[in-house]
Amino acid sequence: MPAPATVADTIAAISTPPGRGGIGIVRLSGPQAASIAVQLVRLRHPLEHAHARLADVLDASDDDPARIDEALVTFFAAPNSYTAEGLVEVAAHGSPVVLELLLRRALALGARLAEPGEFTQRAFLSGRLDLTQAEAVRDLIDAQTLTQARQAASQMGGALSHRVAPAKQSLVELVALLEAGIDFAEDDLDVTPQQEIARRIAELTPPLAALEASFARGRIVHDGLTLAIVGRPNAGKSSLFNRLVERDRAIVTATPGTTRDLVTERISIGGIPIELVDTAGLREGPASSLDGSLNGPLNGSLDEVEQLGIHRSREALADAALVLIVLDATQTLNDEEHRLLAAVVGRPALVAVNKSDLAESARSENLGAPGPSHLGTGESTNLGAAVLDFKTRESSATGPRTSVERSMPPVVSTSALTGEGIAALREKILALATGGAAAEPGMLTNLRQHQAVITALAALADAATANAATIPHEMILLDLYRALWALDSLTGQTTPDDILNLIFSTFCIGK
Ligand code: GDP
Repeated sequence: MPAPATVADTIAAISTPPGRGGIGIVRLSGPQAASIAVQLVRLRHPLEHAHARLADVLDASDDDPARIDEALVTFFAAPNSYTAEGLVEVAAHGSPVVLELLLRRALALGARLAEPGEFTQRAFLSGRLDLTQAEAVRDLIDAQTLTQARQAASQMGGALSHRVAPAKQSLVELVALLEAGIDFAEDDLDVTPQQEIARRIAELTPPLAALEASFARGRIVHDGLTLAIVGRPNAGKSSLFNRLVERDRAIVTATPGTTRDLVTERISIGGIPIELVDTAGLREGPASSLDGSLNGPLNGSLDEVEQLGIHRSREALADAALVLIVLDATQTLNDEEHRLLAAVVGRPALVAVNKSDLAESARSENLGAPGPSHLGTGESTNLGAAVLDFKTRESSATGPRTSVERSMPPVVSTSALTGEGIAALREKILALATGGAAAEPGMLTNLRQHQAVITALAALADAATANAATIPHEMILLDLYRALWALDSLTGQTTPDDILNLIFSTFCIGK
C-alpha cells in the first residue's frame, strides 16, 4: 500500500444534490476540518470521533447572532474516515440558503472549495481506495438498477482488485526473480532458466484473459444497451413497447404510421438497463421500401414528417446494439420484412411474431416443424412457416444451413393485447443482451480497466516472445514492468520497495 499522500489544505463542499431537501450536508476534509467546524457552528458538546453532535447554525458570527437552523455534526478523526483525513459532516436542513451560508463561512475560515470528486480523490491518494474502488463510488452514485448498484458495491469492496491480486503477485515474484538474478549475480544466485520464465508467464495469462473476457458482461451491466423495435406499421411495435415499459408511454393508434418520431424509454431487464427505441413504422408504400442496406433514397410520396421518422428509424436501427423485429402474425411476410430480416443477419436480433391472439396457427411452437410455405400467396396467416421458409432460403443462398440458422434471430410468439409471450420476450432480450456471458465477481466495467488488462496481456506476450528468443533478462524485465504498471492501475501501485522486500525475503540475500 502506498504511503499516505500529505495534503495540506482542507476542502469543503455541499455534498448533497443542489436544490431543496429534508437534509443537506456540508462536508469538510483535511487537517483543519475539526478546527473549522468548531468555529462554523455553535456545538453543544465537543467533537468526538464517529459521534454525532447537535449544533446551532447561526446567521452571523457577530456579537448578536440568531439561530437559523439546528444541525448534526459528525467528526471522523484521521485516518479512520472516508478520505483518511480529518473529516466533518454538517447535516443541516436541506435549505440552499443555510447550506450556502455554511459553505461560505467554511471558506472564510480557511477551507478551499472542493473540486468535483475531490473527496474520493483524497481517499485514493491516501491509499484508502484503489482506482477501481474510486471508480466504483462514481458507479454506485450513477447506478440506475439494483444490479448495477450491486456490481458497483462489489467493486467498491475490492472485488476487482482481489481478482487481479494473485496474477499481480505472481508477476511481482517473476520480476523479483529476474531482478535478483541481475542485481545479485555475485551472490551466487542461479540465473532463472528460460523454461521457468516461460512457465511463469504462461501461468499468468489465463486468469488475465478471463478477466479481459469479463468486460463483455461488465460493460453491459455498466452501460446498458439500446434495443430498436422495428417492423411494418400496425404490427404492434408501440403496443409491445408499452408492454415492456409496462405503462402507456407511446401513443397507440389503429392508423398506420402514426408513431412518427422515435420514442425512447429506459427499462431494466434482469438488472441490465435497456433503452427501448420505438421507431416510426418503416412504412411500405407502392414505391417505398426499406432497401437492403437500409440506406436507400426516401420515398417522395410520404409526407415530410413521416419521411423524417423513417430516416430516424434507419439511424436507430443502425445505432442500436439489439434489434427487435415485430411481425404481424395475421399478415404474410412482405418484401420490406424480408429485407429487414436479411439486414439483421449476424446482428443480435430477435423476432416477435405479434398478435398471436388473432392467429393461433402462427404460434412460434410450430416453427420447429417445417410446413408448407405460403409466402407470396397473399392468403396465408401462417407467418411462422413463412419465417422458417425465409430461414431456409437464406441458408441455401449464403452457406451451410447450420451457421445461417445460428445467425438468424430467435423467434417469440407474442400478444401485446393479452400479454402472452411477453415474459418469454423479456428473457430472450436478456439472453441476447448478455450474449450468454454470466455475471461473475470482479468484472471489468469500463474502458480504462479493459485497456489496462489488454496492455498487460500484450506486454506479457512480448515478454514470452523475448524470453523464447533468449533476449537478455534486462529486456524481458521491461516488458514485465509494462504489464505490472498496467495491473497497478487496477490495484494500486507496486513500489520498488515491494519488489526489493520480496527479493530479500524470498532469496535471503545478505541475510
Ligand atoms: P405499430 O404501428 O407497429 O406501433 O402498432 P401499434 O402498437 O400502434 O398497434 C396497431 C394496432 O394493432 C392497434 O390497434 C393495437 O391495439 C393492435 N395490436 C397491437 N398488438 C396486438 C396484439 O397482440 N393483438 C391484437 N389483437 N391487436 C394488437
